[in-house]
Amino acid sequence: ITLGNPGVGKTSIIQRYLRNIFDDNSMSTVGIQFSYKEVKLDNNESINLKLIDTGGQERYRSMSKSYFRNTDGVLFVFSLNNSDSFKEITEWIKMFNENNNGKDNIPRYLVGNKCDLQKEIEQEKIDAIAKDYNLKYYETSAKANVEIDKLFEDISIVLYKSINPNKDTKQRTIHISSHPQEEKKKNAVVVT
Ligand code: GDP
Ligand code: MG
Repeated sequence: ITLGNPGVGKTSIIQRYLRNIFDDNSMSTVGIQFSYKEVKLDNNESINLKLIDTGGQERYRSMSKSYFRNTDGVLFVFSLNNSDSFKEITEWIKMFNENNNGKDNIPRYLVGNKCDLQKEIEQEKIDAIAKDYNLKYYETSAKANVEIDKLFEDISIVLYKSINPNKDTKQRTIHISSHPQEEKKKNAVVVT
C-alpha cells in the first residue's frame, strides 16, 4: 500500500512501475485504486503483487484504514522538495502502525520521491526517521525513472523470501506482466 500526503507521487510511482509511463498532470487519486503485477523470478517462479494506491486527502484517511490490516508491505512516500510532506510522514507511519493488526514484520519502506527536483530535506533527518521506525529508505523519481524498478524488485524478493523461506532468492526479478489473469489476482500478495 502507498501512503503519504497528496501530490508526493504515489500514483506516479505505481504507474512508472506498472507501465513505464509518467504523466506531468497526474490526476489526484480518489479513494483507493487497485492494480496488479505479476513478477517473475529468474527461477521461473512468480508472485503476484496487488498494489493499493490511496488518495491522501484528509477526508479519505478513515477509509483507507480497513486496507491496512491485510497488507504485506507498505511504502511511506514523501516528496524531497516538500518539507510538509516529510514532516507529516510520521503521522502516516503512526496511523498505519495503529491499524495493521500488529503485523510488525512486513517490509516497510520510506520513499523520498522527486529526486529530480531541488532537495529541501536534510539527509540526517531522513536517516533518523528511517532508523526510528525501522524503514528501508529509497530515493526515487517517477519522472526520471530513478530506483523505481529496484524498489519493487526489493519488495518482491523480500515477499518471495517470506513465503518461501527455504528457497534461494539471489535471482533478480523480471517483471513480465501488469495484467495477470483473474484467478491469479485472487492469490495476490498484497503490497503497494
Ligand atoms: P499522489 O497524489 O501522491 O498520487 O501524486 P501524483 O502521482 O498524482 O503526482 C503529483 C504530481 O507530482 C503530478 O503532477 C506528477 O506529475 C508529479 N510527480 C510525481 N512524481 C514526480 C517525480 O518523481 N518528479 C517530479 N518532478 N514530479 C513528479
Ligand atoms: Mg494519487
